[in-house]
Amino acid sequence: MDCPVCKTAMIVLEIEEVEIDYCTDCAGIWLDTGELELLLEDFEQAAAVLQSFAPAQSDETPRKCPICLKKMDKVLVGEADGKRELIDRCPKGHGLWFDRGELKDILTMAEFDSEGRVKELLGGIFDRPETE
Ligand SMILES: [Zn+2]
Ligand SMILES: [Zn+2]
Repeated sequence: MDCPVCKTAMIVLEIEEVEIDYCTDCAGIWLDTGELELLLEDFEQAAAVLQSFAPAQSDETPRKCPICLKKMDKVLVGEADGKRELIDRCPKGHGLWFDRGELKDILTMAEFDSEGRVKELLGGIFDRPETE
């Protein structure tokens, strides 16, 4: 699968039997539908993340779904009165795209990952140094 930003092939990381597509160029992460729930393991936490999705208008360039190549929708994730992240979601429901750091920020800001489990699992990715 190619990165929707860089168009280069992403690598597959297997984390607790969840396959995550990761771009080594831009540090973006693609999660197929259902993988966020698997990663969070806690069904209530996953439901809280998914319920916080709100459609958004954005001037950001639309990204294309790496599976069906349709333009993805921008959605806001997080608490309505708090800090929110803008992520990309396939209109056909293939999955979600997180730019560098967005998944970590989402897990951090609303304590969706209260025990820090996912952040620990993904620590190697998240700690990757900036390459500007
Ligand atoms: Zn990329
Ligand atoms: Zn798609």
